Parts: sequence; structure tokens; C-alpha cells
Amino acid sequence: MDKIIFRNGWLADVERGQLVEAELMVADGQIAAIGPNLATSGARVIDLAGRVLSPGFIDLHVHLREPGFEYKETIRSGTRAAAAGGFTTIACMPNTNPVLDSPELISWVQAQARAAGAVKVLPIAAISLGQEGKLINDFAALKANGAVAFSDDGRGVNSSRLMLTALQVARDLGCPIMAHEEDAELAAGGSINFGPISEQLGDPGIPAAAEYTMLARDIYLAEMSGGHLHVCHVSTAESVRLIRAAKKRGVKVTAEVAPHHLALTEAVVPALLGQAKVNPPLRSETDRQELLAGVIDGTIDVIATDHAPHANHEKTVPLQQAAFGFSGLETAFAVTQQALVLSGLLTLGELLPALTCRPAALLGLPQGRLVVGAPADLIVLDPHARWQVTPESLLSQGKNTPWLGQELTGRVLLTMIDGQIIFEA
Ligand SMILES: [Zn+2]
Repeated sequence: MDKIIFRNGWLADVERGQLVEAELMVADGQIAAIGPNLATSGARVIDLAGRVLSPGFIDLHVHLREPGFEYKETIRSGTRAAAAGGFTTIACMPNTNPVLDSPELISWVQAQARAAGAVKVLPIAAISLGQEGKLINDFAALKANGAVAFSDDGRGVNSSRLMLTALQVARDLGCPIMAHEEDAELAAGGSINFGPISEQLGDPGIPAAAEYTMLARDIYLAEMSGGHLHVCHVSTAESVRLIRAAKKRGVKVTAEVAPHHLALTEAVVPALLGQAKVNPPLRSETDRQELLAGVIDGTIDVIATDHAPHANHEKTVPLQQAAFGFSGLETAFAVTQQALVLSGLLTLGELLPALTCRPAALLGLPQGRLVVGAPADLIVLDPHARWQVTPESLLSQGKNTPWLGQELTGRVLLTMIDGQIIFEA
């Protein structure tokens, strides 16, 4: 296989949270050498021209919609969108139709992903049969066929007994339970955050407590069982405080936050309506500030997109009828950079671990770091490139983003998987 050398730019040393000046050689699908002045004989040289070479991003929370909702997204379109957004590995959620609750369906998703030939896809299997919250699935068989975690994402696990059992069984298999924390009764009927704006718009509202009351329960169940609780899309200040305190006393809890919760608040809802509807909802500025603090102090381990593509006709309707969710894979880097780096809170080198080595460590993956012998899953970032978010600019079938029509800063120029370039801007 061809050798490729990247030179004349910055390498993301994600374990130290720094950008360093060095060259990197790819051979046989792996990172073969890192250092100054690598011998270029027989190699194709890619001039980074001062840009950043990073491990490919790893997204623990993606909705690929297939099987069952191909009009929103397919495995093919979703994985192409992932590559364009700089993601080389994505974990996909099981709330498809049928739900990913059998070993056969887990194998089917992997086969489809391989045929699509884009990024690496790791299926997450449902906790309960049909995600109905009643009967637990056969985690061992699902894991044996490739499931990396278990989640009933899209809804909360109402039954405490089911959640405890899930944490116990997953613990013995070394897998996380990825929890969508939402008390269905507290959230019932709401489209946006409960507060002055929901009252102004006549919406019942989704209170912050709908998230953190169930989260508090699950932290205690994780503590009791020794299981690994991974908290999906943390959106409230109180959730961050609960996770921070639980980590301090040694509970095996990890957490993710979505770029949109770091960048936006409910203040954009009156202007954007359905295009600002997401679950959990955009919250208050106080919540947003605590989420930022949680990323900075490590309470929140990873940034995950919760990429939730929808068809136009599901979003351009009145708020109450609009579907929850944003198409997020292709705007994730720019939006996260805007919230954390351009705002002066972190350097780019300090941001990248939350998109690379930390999600990798969470699932025990060999990728996500620039080290010799690791898979050559690499991306070239231009942190300064400005681009317009238009329906045509997105490879995802889902054009449902609150940034539509806006200009963002930061773009992925090249994506490589196992030494093969699969995307170039
Ligand atoms: Zn969710």
C-alpha cells in the first residue's frame, strides 16, 4: 500500500491536549512514523500548509435512521456526512424500525456500513425488547455480534428495576449503558425548555428536572451495581453538578454533551421555532455556562453530536408538531470550536481530546490517538476556514440545523480511514 507523509503543519497530540509541529507517515493503513524530517522516498507528500492533522473524530451518539426511516437518512448518506464532518468512527443508536434489539439486526447494520464504504460504524443495541422498557434484551448475544453499548435512547428507562438489571448485566460484559435521562411524565407534552419562553409561546415545556431526577436515580443505581453509566446529551446545570459529585466519590459515570447545547440557548426558539426543537431542549444560559464548565473541568468526558436528521416537512411545521432533533455531524467541529475555542475558554489542542481519545477510551478502541501502530484514521482541519451552511453544503439527507444560512468557522478538509482518503473538501 502507498506511503503518505503529512508535513508542514500541526499534529494534535490529544493525550497532552497540545498541537505540536511534526510530520506523520502512513503506511499499510497504520500510523507508521511521527517525527521531524521523515524520509520521503517512495511516499506521496501532503502539504498541510500550516493546518492541523488530528485523529479522526469519534461520535458516540448518531442516529443513522436505517432501517425504517430511510426518508430521513440512510447508512450510506449518514456515514458520508460523518466523513465530511471529520468523524471516522460513529456509534449508531438503536431507535430504528425495527429497533436494533437482535443479533441479526446488529450484524445487518455492520454489513450495510461496510458496503457503504465510508466511516467505521459501531452499533448500539437496545436495552429493552422493542425499546418498550419491559423485557431486557440478550446483551451477551448482542455484544458477541458487535454491539458496543446498550441504550433505549429516544426515551428514558422508566423502570428502575430494568435499569438496575441492565447496569448489572452490562457491567459483567464490560459495556456502558448509555442513558437518555428523561422522566416521560414530567416531560409530557413539552416541545421546548420549561421557562419564560415556553410560557410566552404557550408550550407546556420540558422542565430541567425531567432530566436530572432520572439521572440522580441512575447514578445511585450505577453506584449500587458497579455498572458503567454513560449519560447521553447532558443539558442541565444540575445534571453537571450531579455527575461531578458522583465522579468525586468514585461512581463509574461518564457523560457527553452535544455541540448545540454548548452553543445555543432557548433564546433562539422564538425566531427558529421547529428548527430549534430538540430533545433534550435548548436550555437557559445558566445551564449552558455549567455545561461549558463541565467540559473544561472534565466532568463531561466527550462531545457527541446526537445527529438526528429529519425530512423538511417534519421541521417546517408548528412547534408542537415538529420533530425533535438536529442534523449535527457536519457542523459539529465548527460549532464546538465556536463555543469553546473562539470564545477563549480552551485552546484547539485542549478541545480535541473530547472528540478523539476520550470517546475511544470510553469504548476501548485503538483509534483516536496519533501514535505509531494505531489505525490511520486521520483528518485535516482548517480551524480558520469560513463556510456557509446551506442545504447543498450538507451531505446528510437531514438539512434540519439551526445554523442553516449562517456562516461558521472551521472545516474538515480531508478524512482518511485506515490509510485511505475517503473525503476531500
Ligand atoms: Zn436521547
